[in-house]
Amino acid sequence: MRLNLAPEVATITASAQGEQVLELLAQDLLSKARCARLTTAHGVIDTPAFMPVGTQGSVKGVSPRELRELNAQIILGNTYHLFVRPGLDVIKHFGGLHKFINWDGPILTDSGGFQIFSLSKLRKITEDGVEFQNHVDGARAFISPEIAMEIQATLGSDIVMALDECIPYPCEYDYAAQSAEMTTRWARRCKEWREENAQRPTSNGQRSIKDAAAVASVVSADTRSLRTAHPTARQLLFGIVQGGTFEGLRKQSAQAIVELDFDGYAIGGVSVGEPEAEMMRAVESAEPFLPKDKPRYAMGLGTPPQLLEMIARGMDMFDCVLPTRLARNGTAFTDTGTLNLKNAEFARDKPPIEENCVCPACRGFSRGYIRHLVKTEEILGLRLITLHNLRFYLELMNQARAEIERGAFDQFRKTFVADYKTRDAMMIE
Ligand SMILES: [Zn+2]
Repeated sequence: MRLNLAPEVATITASAQGEQVLELLAQDLLSKARCARLTTAHGVIDTPAFMPVGTQGSVKGVSPRELRELNAQIILGNTYHLFVRPGLDVIKHFGGLHKFINWDGPILTDSGGFQIFSLSKLRKITEDGVEFQNHVDGARAFISPEIAMEIQATLGSDIVMALDECIPYPCEYDYAAQSAEMTTRWARRCKEWREENAQRPTSNGQRSIKDAAAVASVVSADTRSLRTAHPTARQLLFGIVQGGTFEGLRKQSAQAIVELDFDGYAIGGVSVGEPEAEMMRAVESAEPFLPKDKPRYAMGLGTPPQLLEMIARGMDMFDCVLPTRLARNGTAFTDTGTLNLKNAEFARDKPPIEENCVCPACRGFSRGYIRHLVKTEEILGLRLITLHNLRFYLELMNQARAEIERGAFDQFRKTFVADYKTRDAMMIE
């Protein structure tokens, strides 16, 4: 069955496709770095932007209030995880993802594809979609491009991603080529689903947006039928460029996806274990074909130097689990590299993790105390490092924006990358 969106939502969604969602504010002269403002239904995002990852509907260990205090403007939710637990019917019951997790700012959801390919068992990919057994209880489910759109409409996120196939590294050319072409066909289906549902006339002509939340919409996901509780106004749809590490395929994929005219463009299939030089080349191969007036999102990246290199290559948005995942391992980010606070050298260290940092950890606690908390597996230790690391990533984006605006980004990037010593323990697991 098809979603039956309220007409007001349809109007806003349709108009969003014609209106400018990205306002370019400054362009670096020596690189492709730019700063801009991206408008979403739940607020404005200053780019370059870092999006903390809320895998299970929670940025691990951090409350929404704390995210606000860190000036996080947007967070990411993983559709696959939320689909498996608690399930869409529960999130719908609470009125959508924003209400369920008590976050009223912008949310980007992925399509679920990446986790289906990396976590689930017994997956079978066909032109139609992906059949899989989830990694929690082994229940079977099926996600098609259309179902991925319906699920994200149910979640009510501000930015939704088209379903793509994320190929592993390394990957044969022929498979990468066929996969990228299928990703384009899937992207077209996502776009068509959007257009059909945005333009579909309904009998609920005079309903308000508030009433629209009660309008029945049916999701035919797997064997369950679900009613959408929270149709989203101005949900932006991003297409994803694939093509592996092959320059020609990246170019073709970018051209084909841009041809479909999305609200924004992501570069997927990077940071999947390939050498850093290959990752940079994948982005460089696709970027010239992306329109300048749309946001560009480099998915799943990366270390602080990698983020600055990606900004220099024209990317605007990033998400990465490193600041939260490494925090749980006792690792803190600083301007000169990472510190592993488990190390004995910090036992009697009185300064904060980083001088001049205004995060809750650095305002009140010494490295020695945080080391003690980590060594004794106190939850506070992991939380303090997480807050510091998130603030570090968000502040890096603030600095990047300021340097782009004053025309000094290229020097800032070079100096930062040169001073940043840590190269080990930085790979994404
Ligand atoms: Zn700090």
